[in-house]
Amino acid sequence: MSQPPPVAVYRSNAHLAHAGLVELLAGRQIPCYESPERAVAIERALLGAGGYELREPQAFGLEPILAVHDRTLVDVVEHAWTDALAAGADGSHPLIPDTFKLAAYSGPMEPLALPSAAHLRLGAFCFDTATPMVAGTAAAARAAVDVALSAAHAVVDGAALAYGLCRPPGHHAARAMLGGYCFYNNAAIAAEWLRRDGGFARVAMLDIDYHHGNGTQQLFWERGDVLYCSLHADPARAYPYFSGFASERGAGAGEGLTRNFPLPADTSLDGYADALSEALDAVAAFDPDAPLVVSLGFDTFERDPIGDLALRTADYAEIGRAIGGMGPRTVVLQEGGYAVDAIGANAVAFLGGLREGREAG
Ligand SMILES: [Zn+2]
Repeated sequence: MSQPPPVAVYRSNAHLAHAGLVELLAGRQIPCYESPERAVAIERALLGAGGYELREPQAFGLEPILAVHDRTLVDVVEHAWTDALAAGADGSHPLIPDTFKLAAYSGPMEPLALPSAAHLRLGAFCFDTATPMVAGTAAAARAAVDVALSAAHAVVDGAALAYGLCRPPGHHAARAMLGGYCFYNNAAIAAEWLRRDGGFARVAMLDIDYHHGNGTQQLFWERGDVLYCSLHADPARAYPYFSGFASERGAGAGEGLTRNFPLPADTSLDGYADALSEALDAVAAFDPDAPLVVSLGFDTFERDPIGDLALRTADYAEIGRAIGGMGPRTVVLQEGGYAVDAIGANAVAFLGGLREGREAG
């Protein structure tokens, strides 16, 4: 039997400068869970496992980002840090907004003017205190998009599977809003690219991060051409709290094409596999012609410091096999996962299972 070709792993070193991050969690300032070590650990583990080939992404520029996000958000991501420095910040602390412009602030007063400096308008484009920006953030966010698009490209060009080791992650970023460690929505940008430039009519997205991908859901809420299925911790107890309930099903042309599977605490493989099988049935019923786009999070792991589900390393192989058995070509993009000592083994298990599922299916 001949060896299968290695799986392309797109990755960039640009994320290494998105570092020194702190976040405010429950009133405390802590080192950011979303650290460079996460991606470094995954890269090392895949190289150690064999069968993977690291590749640098191509540069796609801002155009595919602007196909998904408002220019106002992109301007804030691109300029917040440099505008803060120009205004006299010494650059020794990450930038975290301390005011947030909620719909409840403006009420009937819209449109309200915003300051021209990007760091001062940051709170109008951000929903939490967990998304610090530093000097390397904008370049890292752009590189993560390039990683996602390069992986999508590879699959369109004929690969059965490509993995984009995106960092920062993306699925909490909405059309005009960053948050949840996310700046640009890598997976949504890849899905939109498949529609616009890949020549496909229907794209299915499967999000298996611990958290609800509020950004992805918002971006495709009214779209009849993109299915968004998400398995995640029930927002009744888990971040981001304001979305991810099963009752949210899309609207207009997208009615029924948002599918949420909120999970109870301590869900182990049995309960998880049931929800996954329902989500995969929804994908099959949608009958996508494009490669499947998977938002992959390992914060579902039993020892994840910010999750409360109970998946073990071996379970990721089962989950990968179930997804791989679906058949269609697959673009896997990294989202969360914060148990750094296990994240590499979890990635090896998931991607190995996915490959086996494909070969068996
Ligand atoms: Zn997450």
